Amino acid sequence: MADRFDLVVIGAGMVGLSTAWALHEGRPDLSIAVLEKESEVAAHQSGHNSGVVHSGVYYRPGTLKARLCREGRAKLLEFAAEEEIRCFPIGKVIVASRPEEVAMLATIEERARANGVPGVRRLSNEEFASRLPEVVGVASLEIPSAAIIDYREVALRLVDLLASVGVGTSLSSPVRSAAKNAEGWSLDTPSGTVVARYVINCAGLQSDLVARSMGVRPPVMIVPFRGDFYHLSPRLRSRITTLVYPVPDPEVPFLGVHLTPTVDGELLAGPNAALALSREGYHAGEWSLDELASMALFPGTLGLARRYGSYAAREWLKSWSRSEFLSAVRRLWPVVEESDLTGQSSGVRAQAVRPDGSLEDDFVLIRGSNSLHVLNAPSPAATAAFAIGKRVAREAGFLPSSESSGPASPGEPS
Ligand SMILES: Cc1cc2nc3c(=O)[nH]c(=O)nc-3n(C[C@H](O)[C@H](O)[C@H](O)COP(=O)(O)OP(=O)(O)OC[C@H]3O[C@@H](n4cnc5c(N)ncnc54)[C@H](O)[C@@H]3O)c2cc1C
Repeated sequence: MADRFDLVVIGAGMVGLSTAWALHEGRPDLSIAVLEKESEVAAHQSGHNSGVVHSGVYYRPGTLKARLCREGRAKLLEFAAEEEIRCFPIGKVIVASRPEEVAMLATIEERARANGVPGVRRLSNEEFASRLPEVVGVASLEIPSAAIIDYREVALRLVDLLASVGVGTSLSSPVRSAAKNAEGWSLDTPSGTVVARYVINCAGLQSDLVARSMGVRPPVMIVPFRGDFYHLSPRLRSRITTLVYPVPDPEVPFLGVHLTPTVDGELLAGPNAALALSREGYHAGEWSLDELASMALFPGTLGLARRYGSYAAREWLKSWSRSEFLSAVRRLWPVVEESDLTGQSSGVRAQAVRPDGSLEDDFVLIRGSNSLHVLNAPSPAATAAFAIGKRVAREAGFLPSSESSGPASPGEPS
C-alpha cells in the first residue's frame, strides 16, 4: 500500500525543509512529507557551505536574490534567536586589494544601499588599519549586519519541528522515478511508492534531473562548481574575528576566496569555484562518465568554456595547487604561511547554466504539472531559505499570493 500525501517535498536541504515549514505554517490542514536521498539531512550544499548569513549587498536591486535574501535573513535570525541556535553577528569587511577594484566596491556600496542593508559604510584608512592591521587593501566597505551560523544545525532543528507537527522527513529515500497519474504523482523510492497530489522539487544538485523525470524540460542545466576550504592553523584564529571578503569578479556569481570565522571557533579560507567533473564531486579528480557525457551534450558547455575559460582555469589551479590557493589567501592576508593551511573540506554549488553558456544569476522557480521545481538556488539561498520557502508555497498556490506571481515560469513539457 503506497503512502499518500497532499504534498511531497523532494530534498532535505535548507530550501526543501524551509519550504515544508512554510507549507505547514500556511496550510496545517494538508498532509506533507519530505523525501531525502541521503542518510542525513543537509548532506550536500546546506551542510558544506561557508556558514555566512548574508546581508544582501551584492545582488541587483529588484532581483529575487536581493528581495529574498533580505526577507529570509530576517526570518533566519528570528528563528535562530527563538530556537537558541548559535548565530554570531560578527560583521563583514569587503576589501579592494587593487585600485582597479574600487569601482566595483562602489557598485556594491550602491547596491547595498538600494537593497536597504543597514549600517554599510566605507572604512577610512585609519579605521581599516586598526580593525584589520594585517590585511592588505586600498579601500574597504564594512557590512556590520553579516553574521555566521551553522546551517546544519538549522536544518536539524527544522526536521525536529516538522516532526513535532506531523511532517516526517524520510531519509535514505531517493526519488528514483516519477509517474503522473490521476491523483498527482507516484514517486518510486527504495522503500516503496509514495503518492502525492503535488510535488515540490528542491533537489539542489539533482534538481534539473528530477524536473526532467517529471516531464519538465528545464531551461537550464545544473553545473557543479566545487569550492575548497582550508582550515587555518589555530595560531591565526584570534587574529581575524570578522568576515573578510575580496571584491568579487563581476562576471561570475561567486564571491572569491575569503576568510570566515565559524561558530565552532575555527577560521576557514575559501572557497574557490572550480568546475567539478561530477555533481557530487567533493574531491579534485573525482569524475563521473555519465555526467561528463551529458555535460558534453549540453549546448551551454561550449559557451561556458568560451565565456569563463580563463576564470575556470585559475579556479582549477587553486584546487590542484596549495601554492595557488595560498596566493589567493595572501592577496588579502599576507601573514598566512603554507603550514597554516591545515585540514581541507569542500562543498559543491548547484549553479544553473543557460544554453548559451551564461551562468544564471537569479533564483529560478519553474512550474510543471502538479509540481514546482527550484532550479537555481545557489548562495545566498541558505540565508534566504525561509523566504524562498514562502515564495515557493505561494507560487505553488498553497499560500495566498501577496504580489504578482513574477518569475516562476511554466516549464516546457518534454
Ligand atoms: C562552498 C559553498 C559555500 C556557500 N556559502 C554560503 C553561505 O555562506 N551563505 C549562504 O546563504 N549560502 C551559501 N552557499 C549556498 C547554499 O549552501 C545553498 O544555496 C543552499 O544550501 C541550497 O539549499 P538546497 O536545499 O537548495 O540544496 P541542498 O542543500 O543541496 O539540498 C538538496 C537535497 O536534495 C537531496 N536530493 C537530491 N536528489 C534527490 C532525490 N532524487 N530524491 C530525494 N532527495 C534528493 C540531496 O541529497 C540534498 O540533501 C554556499 C554553497 C557552497 C557549495
